[in-house]
Amino acid sequence: MRISTPVSKFIIPLDVFERTFDELRKWGEKEFEGLVLWVGTTARSKAIIKDFVVPEADFWGGGVRISSGGMLKLAEDLSQRNLILLAQLHTHASDFGHSYGDEQHAASYRLGYVSIVVPNFAQEKHTDLSSCYVYGYVGNGKWNQLTKNQVARRFKIT
Ligand SMILES: [Zn+2]
Repeated sequence: MRISTPVSKFIIPLDVFERTFDELRKWGEKEFEGLVLWVGTTARSKAIIKDFVVPEADFWGGGVRISSGGMLKLAEDLSQRNLILLAQLHTHASDFGHSYGDEQHAASYRLGYVSIVVPNFAQEKHTDLSSCYVYGYVGNGKWNQLTKNQVARRFKIT
């Protein structure tokens, strides 16, 4: 049976997209994985990105994840601004997708939450997500990788 991922359409302002990748690239220049969160609102089947957040992170075995302090700050910040956490992006040193740790230590496990892995420390120029690994959380600890077609259809940079 095919599991369809409950990822809705994502609307990403170009400015947020570019600043996100600038941030990831900066970490990559120092050979650290970078982590950036996309926050915003939802309306019917649309996720509208309003801003990006660089959380307090822990670095482990060459990887990165949000720290518990970072999680607390984020929750307070989001509730004050009436925004929700919609997606996370992090980089890998080379060209591969989710690691086991990535599946176990995401910043959210809301259905439809999206995790994006940017290859090669984000050192290449990205104008869309076509060379990234994109996963939607489908529940029960499982992530579903989106096809290139699904990514192109669902993520609109405006
Ligand atoms: Zn990773």
